Amino acid sequence: MTENPSAQPTPSAPPAPAAPTVTAKWEDLGLDPKLVELVKKFGYQTPTPVQAEAIPFAVEGHDVLASAATGSGKTAGFVLPTVNRFMGKKGTLILALSPTREIAQQTAAVFETFGAPLGLKATVLIGGANMRLEEQALGEYPQIIVATPGRLCDHLERGNIWLDFIQTLILDEADRMLDMGFADQLARITESIPNSRQTLMFSATFPPSIEKLARNTMYQPKEVKIGVAAEMKPKIDQRFLRMREEDKVSELIRLFKQEPGTVIVFARSKDRVSRLWRSLHSRLIYDATFLHSDCTQAHREKALADFKAGTYRILIATDVAGRGIDVDDVAHVVNFDLPFEPEDYVHRIGRTGRRGRTGKATSFVTDRDRELVRRIEKLTGKKDIEGAAPSEGGESLERSGGRGGRGGRSGGGRGGSSGESSGGSGEGGRRRRRGGRGRRSGGGGAPQGGGSGPST
Ligand code: ADP
Ligand code: MG
Repeated sequence: MTENPSAQPTPSAPPAPAAPTVTAKWEDLGLDPKLVELVKKFGYQTPTPVQAEAIPFAVEGHDVLASAATGSGKTAGFVLPTVNRFMGKKGTLILALSPTREIAQQTAAVFETFGAPLGLKATVLIGGANMRLEEQALGEYPQIIVATPGRLCDHLERGNIWLDFIQTLILDEADRMLDMGFADQLARITESIPNSRQTLMFSATFPPSIEKLARNTMYQPKEVKIGVAAEMKPKIDQRFLRMREEDKVSELIRLFKQEPGTVIVFARSKDRVSRLWRSLHSRLIYDATFLHSDCTQAHREKALADFKAGTYRILIATDVAGRGIDVDDVAHVVNFDLPFEPEDYVHRIGRTGRRGRTGKATSFVTDRDRELVRRIEKLTGKKDIEGAAPSEGGESLERSGGRGGRGGRSGGGRGGSSGESSGGSGEGGRRRRRGGRGRRSGGGGAPQGGGSGPST
């Protein structure tokens, strides 16, 4: 990329990575003054560390591979340099891929904020929205497309869109996209974009699968890895409560009553999210809403907006729906079910204790969760699983099922395991299936029409 390798180093040579102790300034990142002004006016006083390090590389046209924790400001980290590069230009030049509809919409909103005043238009292509409307929007040649991989593949297959003119490809929340089984779609999409493109990959974590994806899609990427500074480390009071499956609902209600403030409750499958919501409703808990990928787009948007606005204090969600949504200020995260992957535990509890605040995370643990707990302890270095011995009575989610709160205790439920057989469908099933599918690209693997992704 250097035009004149024999030339003397000039003052405009790439800046050394920002020293983490010095607060960086927007003026120093190579951004156009107009953009700097917009950013400050918007209220971002100084760049976050990942922005300070990634933006200069991206502005210079390098590929950038950046990892930084959730909430560290990665979105503006790719939006600002991209807007900087393409302001005033025409044609569909930028493609940003997001794992979920919510993240796609949030990303598009950030592109609007900083791009629209400089003449850049963004369109979102996501499952659950009207395909025809999306086609129409594409007809207006927006410079920026923000899409979920599944939906974009649908449009590619229908010939609604070509990617020959894309000059910057953004893979946001890349770890999540791989987790969700989008590898084939990503391969299909990257093959349709010229190799001369710039690729910006942002991820909260950096597992080997990300390195592999980077090797396959990027050209000599500049790597930016931001650790978490001690004072910014979320202060989260983590508790693990041991209990029987059939006591979970009562325990949850007890927590709701005991503690004020907003709560996100994570359950492991769409089915369990719905059941839990019904079960709470039947027990007269009305200030809860829920979110998973089978909900209609309208419902998803409303649920999130209502939760953010405080209309509902409680949000019940699956991992996929819960990840990446930018809800600030959640007082309490409850793992009604432990996640299958320890990394998801970290993501979930990251919804609380954000930006220096103190938060609370409570995980319900049954006897079946031993192995998971061990892996979570290993990852987080935490070792104080507490909880009394399982108590008597109660009802499992499966058996109560919101059937008018009758509390069907039929079937002589012994132990916590009986209620969990449905775990094989939903998210658990997805992960298992993914293993066998391999990396065959172009296998027509676009998720079915309505969904922006596999089954969460
Ligand atoms: P990530 O993608 O890393 O999880 P986001 O891009 O969603 O994080 O940003 C998290 C929050 O931080 C958002 O509410 C965003 O508006 C805010 N934010 C981003 N950059 C800055 C900044 N430089 N100063 C203040 N707030 C910022
Ligand atoms: Mg993000």
